[in-house]
Amino acid sequence: MTSPHRQIATLFLALMAATAIAQQTPTPRTLILIDPAHGGPDPGAKLADNVTEKSLTMAFGARLRALLTTNGFSVMSTHEADPTVTFTTDQRAEIANHAHPTACLILHATNSGNGIHLITSELPLPDDTYDPDAHHPIPWNTAQAASIPQSRALANQIGLALIHTKLPVLVTRASIRPLDNLTCPALAVEIAPLTRDDDTTPVTDTNYQQQVAQAIAAGLSSWRSRQLADTGAGATTGASR
Ligand SMILES: [Zn+2]
Repeated sequence: MTSPHRQIATLFLALMAATAIAQQTPTPRTLILIDPAHGGPDPGAKLADNVTEKSLTMAFGARLRALLTTNGFSVMSTHEADPTVTFTTDQRAEIANHAHPTACLILHATNSGNGIHLITSELPLPDDTYDPDAHHPIPWNTAQAASIPQSRALANQIGLALIHTKLPVLVTRASIRPLDNLTCPALAVEIAPLTRDDDTTPVTDTNYQQQVAQAIAAGLSSWRSRQLADTGAGATTGASR
């Protein structure tokens, strides 16, 4: 027979456990940094008679920002309006790294290819001697190396969300700036026209852009949930399921 003392102790421990779950830190703020590529004297590609890549990436960035905000993300852009002077990739990387975002998305658009191209850095992964907690200076040209596993996981989650929306996806690697200079999980998202059944939707189509933005937001949400579950910060959410 269980003694009353033992019963009280068990009840007390159960209460302590319940309190511990309730007191867990709330979900950390998730800041997404968006970098609409090109701008100012650099128009990027000409996508239609009156549409340059720089105007499309700005418009798509605003569309994505609205959706991400609705989904509970904090969002920041490297620039809110078309820059009047040259805005270098180094300047963009400095703004991004200073903000310490949870993830960075660099936006491009093109008239060649089909669907969405997701590009992560092709820098070599850091070797076994790399200690992310050591406060050594981060080399500018290979700043992204330490984040590559996270960046690839992010590209996979966004890729899955796009495939779920039945949009063609090409996941690839390239060393492009400012991707290699970023210290957070990062990828470049390049929107190409959508060709299906001999029918082509141009990148300027706003319904198509909205579909892409919705899939990116869904992919970011699932990536973030997995990330929080891995670090234990999502335990409260997990326990209530
Ligand atoms: Zn571009």
